[in-house]
Amino acid sequence: MNETVSRCSERLNLIQASIRSAAQRSGRAENDVKLMAVTKTKPEEVIRALIEIGVRYFGENYPDETLRKLSVFESAPSGTRLCMIGHLQSRKAKIILDHFDEFHSLDSLKTAERISRGLDERGESMRALLEINIGGETSKHGWNAAESTDRLYRDLDSILKLPGLTLAGLMTLPPYAADAESNRVYFARMRELAERINRQFGLSLRELSMGTSDDFEVAIEEGATIVRIGTKLVGARERIEKIQGG
Ligand SMILES: *Cc1c(COP(=O)(O)O)cnc(C)c1O
Repeated sequence: MNETVSRCSERLNLIQASIRSAAQRSGRAENDVKLMAVTKTKPEEVIRALIEIGVRYFGENYPDETLRKLSVFESAPSGTRLCMIGHLQSRKAKIILDHFDEFHSLDSLKTAERISRGLDERGESMRALLEINIGGETSKHGWNAAESTDRLYRDLDSILKLPGLTLAGLMTLPPYAADAESNRVYFARMRELAERINRQFGLSLRELSMGTSDDFEVAIEEGATIVRIGTKLVGARERIEKIQGG
């Protein structure tokens, strides 16, 4: 085992133990919670190490950066899933259509229509999660569900009619907080929102992607089915300015 592999392996074991105990604490099955490795800015070597130790679920944020390390994902064992979790600029939609398996940061009707059109042309479908701006922050993308769900419900009505997109659940990144407990209220609101959407639209969306390195245990206690972990698994990120090469 090389050093990167053994370091990732140690970290993965610790994270999996925490996932297990958070699931147990809240009376949930451990395999109800999926770990997504967030590898933005990380080199191929790190992704290869994760694949070697059995990680198959990946989240990436910057399509151009992902393109440069695509070979590591394309040569991964079958069953490996590459998910988009960052804001998509519309001119990058083709990269998502061509190379990603799932779209977890669907944040507007316009983007949904664009992706749907591409999928329809290709005769393909793609699993998608709606990104919710649960804290109502001006700096964040996604449906602001802090005050009203009117807009979200109206857009959802249209999105559900679009071909190609398979809606699977909701995703969020709550406001930054120094301690994980302060995000509990947002995670709980996400679960309630998913329940309300399911009732209102007669759906059974079950994925709740929420919780990162600092707060995934609280997120699991509040119902997360996907936790997105970067730093705690692969260490601090490289600066994106450096990665994008200016
Ligand atoms: C970067 C990122 C993560 C991972 O955050 P860590 O704190 O490094 O675990 C999760 N979700 C999204 C949307 C991200 O952009």
